[in-house]
Amino acid sequence: MKTIPHWIGGAATPGSATRTAAVWDPATGRQQARVLLADAADVQRAVSVAATAFEEWSEASLSKRTSVLFAFRELVNARMDDLAAIVSDEHGKVLSDARGEVQRGLEVIEFACGIPQLLKGDYSDQVSTGVDSYSFRQPLGVVAGITPFNFPVMVPCWMHPVAIACGNTFVLKPSERDPSASMLVAELWAEAGLPGGVFNVVHGDRTAVDALLDAEQVAAVSFVGSTPIARYIHGRASAAGKRVQALGGAKNHAVVLPDADLEFAANHLTAAAFGSAGQRCMAISAAVAVGTAGDALIEILRDRAATVRVGPGRDGASEMGPLVTREARERVVGYIDSGAAQGATLVVDGRDLVVPGHEDGFFVGPTVLDHVTAEMDAYRAEIFGPVLVVTRVDTLDEAIALINTNPYGNGTAVFTSSGESARRFQREVTVGMIGVNVPIPVPMAYHSFGGWKDSLFGESHIHGPEGVRFYTRAKVVTSRWPQVARPVAASYHFPTAS
Ligand code: NAD
Repeated sequence: MKTIPHWIGGAATPGSATRTAAVWDPATGRQQARVLLADAADVQRAVSVAATAFEEWSEASLSKRTSVLFAFRELVNARMDDLAAIVSDEHGKVLSDARGEVQRGLEVIEFACGIPQLLKGDYSDQVSTGVDSYSFRQPLGVVAGITPFNFPVMVPCWMHPVAIACGNTFVLKPSERDPSASMLVAELWAEAGLPGGVFNVVHGDRTAVDALLDAEQVAAVSFVGSTPIARYIHGRASAAGKRVQALGGAKNHAVVLPDADLEFAANHLTAAAFGSAGQRCMAISAAVAVGTAGDALIEILRDRAATVRVGPGRDGASEMGPLVTREARERVVGYIDSGAAQGATLVVDGRDLVVPGHEDGFFVGPTVLDHVTAEMDAYRAEIFGPVLVVTRVDTLDEAIALINTNPYGNGTAVFTSSGESARRFQREVTVGMIGVNVPIPVPMAYHSFGGWKDSLFGESHIHGPEGVRFYTRAKVVTSRWPQVARPVAASYHFPTAS
């Protein structure tokens, strides 16, 4: 069976630890590989190598950095299908969806290709007589990325192209559930001409994460994953004096107003709830039907959910694949059970779905639960599976209040034909990313991505302009070149302009 190694100093390496974790084929339920789990010594080696590489890489000119980034962009683009196939095989998502995630990662690389423009400083001439002031930004050093299973290419790409373009070196700890895509990405960086040690991959679990959080030479940590771990990472890395951005989980509500095109809303809700088997941090997992929209919406959702084609990710006919692991499947089925037991109406039930020829795969079919209340576990939990809960309210005010009471604040959407309602909605919800008749409002690479409340710990959103700020720190220089002909007397009072 294949063993997936680490990537340190520009080459694949087994490291010293021998613990491994199983990598499953979610479509068949069979183990397809094992991945090495780093211990603290392996992590420290990667960090030390990255710290040494920083000495040179931080001195590389902007032209040198952009030439590597442009080459990397070309290689990722050329290998898009290979990357998508690896993602589909280990995650389970369908190929077209995997290609979409690689494309969105590629767009961050393209954004990072513009680093000379992004790092241009400011200059103020003559702030005082004969004095100029200017500011510029410098890299931090070694920065670490800890990423979730659900976007094994895109989410790391939110981090490393920007961090490396800014002159940092990077240690990635990807999810141990789908680790292989990061190895191909490492090879492509090397092929693009990135010096060894600038981009490193250590696989592992909590042991590796803790070692990264405690490593003295790690200056900053970007994390994306579930809320409990995001909170933990933020606390521990902040206590160690590191800069941290920790993006957490979500419960994304889509409000459907009675004036919406219900056919359009139901089609988009179905795709946003069941695409990638609901394993997206921006998936719509709660529909909030306002007033008379409810009954009509449910009828169309029932029809649409029942016709989603579920099958293995590699089958071109599949619209939705399996869940990532057997445990994930059991957790999702448990929430459907509890919703039904706590009084929700099971409109479409995906628990017994069987995909012929893939009886042991981790499949759950699209599921719709109606009349779900805010007290039920199926509403409170981030189910992270193909389950859409529908809550009924009477007014837009109630819908906004429901969203604002929810601890998560990642994404939300409103379906309406009223500009006035949409404007009120976007101004009043306590959520970071908002869609107006757009169910999955993931910002483009040149904007920044981030939620509010329990969906993000730290001040910075990720990638885009905030990513550049996160991976750099500012210097301001105040400069004078004294002229012999115009002597300037020293003064004992606090400096003021003259
Ligand atoms: P996870 O929190 O279980 O794991 C994320 C990372 O943390 C992995 O690398 C994992 O190895 C590590 N980890 C897990 N347990 C740990 C522990 N006890 N101590 C230290 N490190 C630990 O998340 P996941 O299941 O891989 O991904 C799904 C979650 O990620 C969902 O909650 C989803 O909403 C969230 N997510 C959020 C965003 C966002 O942008 N806000 C994007 C993608 C995914």
